[in-house]
Amino acid sequence: MPRNPKWTDDEHILALNLYFENDGPLLDPSDDKVIELSDLLNSLPIHSDNTRIGNFRNPNGVSMKLGNFRRLDPNFEGAGLPHGALGEVTIWEKYLDKKSELKQIADAIKNNIDVVSPPSTEDESDEEFEEGKLLTRVHKYRERNSNLVRKKKKKVLELKGKLECEVCEFDFKEQYAELGEGFAECHHTIPVSKLKKRQKTKLSDLAILCANCHRMIHRSKPMLSIRELKELLQNV
Ligand SMILES: [Zn+2]
Ligand SMILES: [Zn+2]
Repeated sequence: MPRNPKWTDDEHILALNLYFENDGPLLDPSDDKVIELSDLLNSLPIHSDNTRIGNFRNPNGVSMKLGNFRRLDPNFEGAGLPHGALGEVTIWEKYLDKKSELKQIADAIKNNIDVVSPPSTEDESDEEFEEGKLLTRVHKYRERNSNLVRKKKKKVLELKGKLECEVCEFDFKEQYAELGEGFAECHHTIPVSKLKKRQKTKLSDLAILCANCHRMIHRSKPMLSIRELKELLQNV
């Protein structure tokens, strides 16, 4: 039997946020808020059309998901643990005491749907931030804005005469001669969940990093700041 793709962290974040906002009473499939979330989940560019089947994230499924969260809720003891969805437990435990952070991420997802393109194989790398796939893509999209990256590099070159990593001072040109000329990665320093709707990226939001430091900065959840990674490197 064909099945719909598993819920991703982003989807669980949105559902749990509704669960917390609703604070207790179970919402049935005809509830406006359930229908609204079902519509939202259907519009998210996370799962490609060919992996979805007819009842993909329909109001029934959304209502059931909220029920699963309720079974994890100690305020509603006695219902037993939900079987299966490990993802539910992970998100539940992570955000149980961080409801405002959860809401911030949920809002950021809603505010940024129109920024990201549908999933492509290129986007499905192993890297995913704790805010979920969608906001990971928003972050990368902002970092890959070629126009802005070009301007940033130009400005740094004018100021410093080189494109060295702001954390470890690695300079691709120094190491790889001509091959490394003009090469560096740009990192967007503002966590995506803190971005306002349609907030423009400023040059000062971008940092020049080498590929290693860029990977390391994203490996930590939540993402480290430039200064934190620098301190970490100095204390090793
Ligand atoms: Zn570096
Ligand atoms: Zn980055």
